[in-house]
Amino acid sequence: MAPRVTDEHMTEQTAVNHASAKIVPQLPDMQTVTEVKHYTDRLFSFRVTRPASLRFRSGEFVMIGLMGDEDPETGKRKPIMRAYSIASPSWDEELEFYSIKVQDGPLTSKLQHIQPGDGLILRPKPVGTLVHDALLPGKRLWFFATGTGFAPFASLLREPQTYEDYDEIIITHTCRELGELTYGRDLIDALKTDELLNEVIGDGLWKKIKYYPTTTREDSPKMGRITDLMRSGEAFTDLGVPVLSPETDRAMICGNLAFNLELKEMLESYGLNEGANSNPQQYVVEKAFLD
Ligand SMILES: Cc1cc2nc3c(=O)[nH]c(=O)nc-3n(C[C@H](O)[C@H](O)[C@H](O)COP(=O)(O)OP(=O)(O)OC[C@H]3O[C@@H](n4cnc5c(N)ncnc54)[C@H](O)[C@@H]3O)c2cc1C
Repeated sequence: MAPRVTDEHMTEQTAVNHASAKIVPQLPDMQTVTEVKHYTDRLFSFRVTRPASLRFRSGEFVMIGLMGDEDPETGKRKPIMRAYSIASPSWDEELEFYSIKVQDGPLTSKLQHIQPGDGLILRPKPVGTLVHDALLPGKRLWFFATGTGFAPFASLLREPQTYEDYDEIIITHTCRELGELTYGRDLIDALKTDELLNEVIGDGLWKKIKYYPTTTREDSPKMGRITDLMRSGEAFTDLGVPVLSPETDRAMICGNLAFNLELKEMLESYGLNEGANSNPQQYVVEKAFLD
């Protein structure tokens, strides 16, 4: 018999493991994994079924998770839930996520082993600040990401509004190693042949995009942290654009805490102000993970 667990949204749940394998959704919050792709020993992406009731704005995040191990004393299992940016756009019939693998991480030590057919708990309550609504109209949109901070931009890059609202979209992605850029690079390459976007926006879409990937450890065509490359002016020269200005430029930041703080300070020094859903301004920021 399946163990009983207590949680605000569920009363009974079968274990998510490969022995019981291939479970079908049985609760409102349980979705089914449809695809898994591994990029490096630290990064993977996966797709799951989308709850019929879930509406979200591209760039938002939800809580997802798996059942934890049985408590040896009570015999109960609790869900392990974490915040995850939805990497797919709002119109997609499935949901995509782009994930880290932390070997001793409570969730991702398990999540990295999921396979198509497995169950995933998903709370259908999307929130977040990396949304078009939190920015004032502008000409040029910057996405600044480190690591898995690319995930919300993977959503926004496949959102037609991004190209309708802006003349130019600049994506900077800083990672330690080249392999960590693969998910983003493949996604941007695929935009060239994305039927929906090309139909809605036309073939001018691709001309609006400037992609600026950099690495900090492994050798690559462009080395260095984006903040250093902006401070020296090199990034602006490479991209052929002027320094950000509050009149024309809008920005979204999603990286580690130190990166977010450094970039916030730089954007403020260019005269851009931080916005929120309730108060749209020139830039918005969200942490890619908690610390
Ligand atoms: C708003 C928000 C959105 C998020 N979106 C994503 C997402 O789209 N993809 C994703 O992989 N994670 C995302 N995270 C992080 C995620 O919630 C978990 O922290 C992560 O899945 C690891 O979970 P865990 O239980 O295995 O380890 P945790 O106990 O949560 O983390 C263990 C340690 O691993 C490190 N860590 C955690 N997440 C990351 C990461 N993404 N990159 C590098 N180091 C990390 C931190 O140092 C942390 O202390 C997001 C976090 C927040 C706050």
